[in-house]
Amino acid sequence: MQFLKSIMQFFVCAKRLLIFAIEVRRVSVRQTARAVVCACSAKMIPYDLKKVKAIALDVDGVLSCNVVSLDASGQPCRTANIKDGYALQLAARHGLQIAIISGGKSKAVEERYAYLGIQHVYMGVSYKIDTFRKWCDEIGVSGDEVVYMGDDIPDLPVMEACGCAACPHDAAAEVRAAATYVSPYDGGHGCVRDVLEQIMRAHGTWAASEKAFGW
Ligand SMILES: [Mg+2]
Repeated sequence: MQFLKSIMQFFVCAKRLLIFAIEVRRVSVRQTARAVVCACSAKMIPYDLKKVKAIALDVDGVLSCNVVSLDASGQPCRTANIKDGYALQLAARHGLQIAIISGGKSKAVEERYAYLGIQHVYMGVSYKIDTFRKWCDEIGVSGDEVVYMGDDIPDLPVMEACGCAACPHDAAAEVRAAATYVSPYDGGHGCVRDVLEQIMRAHGTWAASEKAFGW
């Protein structure tokens, strides 16, 4: 009788172990499959980002949404994406050169990006390509070391002059056609964060030190 009980206990334990092993394997396979799907579906910038030393950004339609309200005097009230802001200040603290080049004029925009540590904020620019070339000379980088992100026709000359042209998902059709990389995110909705994160991951600086956990 005791012998039969031992045999039964053995089979119960064996069954539990088998179920546990199957569950562990299921979770592992599920997690692995999800990781593979995420890796395959994530859009990556088709450019050698390790050589990128600088990034220049448009404001309207890139850092700010395409559609904004107007204040009482008719001036656009631009938006700012908080996660873009985090990535900008982190990139600046890691030594990435950053310029903001806008045709618009806004004290609020100047103050916002100066606060985030962006040293080169150019507002009221008529022809962005001139400002872009002067900025590249000033910081000592060649075009192929620069990523530029714009969303509309005035951005096209700079997109041709830089090494890697990026644009938000809701950029103008001509800009999307000219871009090396079209972000899956719209202007003002994280497209800048998307590009900065990829650059910093290529540099090994994304969330790689205690700088990532403070401002
Ligand atoms: Mg724009």
